[in-house]
Amino acid sequence: MSSEQSVKKAAELLKQGATMLSEACPLCNSPLYKLRNGEIVCPVHGRVILAKDEEEERKFQRELLLDSAEKILVESLNGVVEKLKNDPMDSEVIMQVIRYLDSLERLKRIRESSPEKQ
Ligand SMILES: [Zn+2]
Repeated sequence: MSSEQSVKKAAELLKQGATMLSEACPLCNSPLYKLRNGEIVCPVHGRVILAKDEEEERKFQRELLLDSAEKILVESLNGVVEKLKNDPMDSEVIMQVIRYLDSLERLKRIRESSPEKQ
């Protein structure tokens, strides 16, 4: 995108009620804009997720990690439950189900103890 186009886009954003932020896009250094719905956008790159500081950056990463851990656990649990359908008395499979449920329960507790949820 040419700088002329990004200026045009910025003007468009302002017309839509966006406000210019003091932060710059981490990719292109253009000033960032906050839309009325709270979304932060760069006139060149579109939506940008902006971490205010390192702590927030870690928080984002932690959330992402917990999300993907939960997804993997749920998917694995589904697979094990399928096995259980074939042999409901298979105690090893039952133990696996319990272990997955246990892990999910722990994950839930970790999320609830997150500082941002308090
Ligand atoms: Zn940008």
